[in-house]
Amino acid sequence: MNAPAPRLRLPGPTAVPARVRRAMAAPTISHRGPEFEALLRACESGLRPLLGSANDPLFFASSGTGMMEAAVLQVAGPGERLLILDNGQFAERFAAIAAAHGLAHDLLPTPWGGAPDPALLRARLRDGDYAAVLAVHNESATGAVADLAALGAEIADHRALFVVDSVSGVGGLELRQADWGVDVLIGASQKALMCPPGLAFVALSDKAWRALEQGPARPAFFAGFLKARESAAKGQTPFTPALPQLAALREALAMIHEEGIAPVLARHRRLSAALRAGGAALGLASFPSSPLVSDTVAVFALPADMDGGVLVRAFRDRFGTVIAGARNRLAGRVIRFGTMGAVQADDIRRDLEELGAVLADLYGHAAPEAGLAAAERVLSA
Ligand SMILES: *Cc1c(COP(=O)(O)O)cnc(C)c1O
Repeated sequence: MNAPAPRLRLPGPTAVPARVRRAMAAPTISHRGPEFEALLRACESGLRPLLGSANDPLFFASSGTGMMEAAVLQVAGPGERLLILDNGQFAERFAAIAAAHGLAHDLLPTPWGGAPDPALLRARLRDGDYAAVLAVHNESATGAVADLAALGAEIADHRALFVVDSVSGVGGLELRQADWGVDVLIGASQKALMCPPGLAFVALSDKAWRALEQGPARPAFFAGFLKARESAAKGQTPFTPALPQLAALREALAMIHEEGIAPVLARHRRLSAALRAGGAALGLASFPSSPLVSDTVAVFALPADMDGGVLVRAFRDRFGTVIAGARNRLAGRVIRFGTMGAVQADDIRRDLEELGAVLADLYGHAAPEAGLAAAERVLSA
């Protein structure tokens, strides 16, 4: 019962600050009263500048995947085709969702670790008529970041809607939905927004709202976006909302705005760079080949003699620290650390001390302090 909580260093769910946990313990309120409207408005207005959206986001009780599925069902139907920019695990999830619903879809493949190529997208859009193009902002499995501005510019002149999963980006990576031409932007609570899991949201552009208003009716009930927007106009949600999760989000957004969006993003960048530099000094190269590398997850490629599962277990057994390996085609070949949310420089220092010790123990690494020293150079720059 009294064992210390594990030190959670995953790329989601992430550690929840005490202030946010306390906000969740508030008494339950009516979801049809003025207190709820105030809560909803605080979440909408607090989130909008993080998303760079022209319109307020809609909230649903769901994990991120539920929102991905809802978005797919709102942008395409029978006889229409989706284009999925496939550079990793979560793009594959978009494809699995489309397949589960029998929706026609093409893949534009990119090797894992890379980012979708805008020039290849341009060529595809010239040849095909798509209802939507689906992309992942921050591929948490590989640490690659998509250039949403460049991709959005290719899509802008087509009827296709640009659907983006930024579940592990929102709050840790710059997002300018309106400027970048992102039509359907998907996020969730448990990554850089440092909230518990269970709340997802979606923000639609004017182009996306027009498509929903004027296009063919899309079958949806629980997560119908038009119905949700009608309720939101009245300060409500169509069904009972995840009240504690929204209270958590309001508090987390308050913390983010107190620190300032630009400083929050700069902290994510600095800490990620420090961790990558430390890993490199310990002989672990950064996995992504994409020119844009994640500021919310550090993914390390392991030399052939190392096994990710063994490292993950060693962190847990020796230090009570929970890092991630991979549960996909990279299983055993990478380890991943979350660098998003409430992470501070001391977390990164401890990560590297522990990594140095684990590598020395298991693989006889000679200079376990090299990682920390390299990180300090980035942190003090
Ligand atoms: C975590 C994550 C999701 C959502 O996963 P859930 O477990 O359904 O919340 C979706 N996309 C990306 C890129 C993620 O990192």
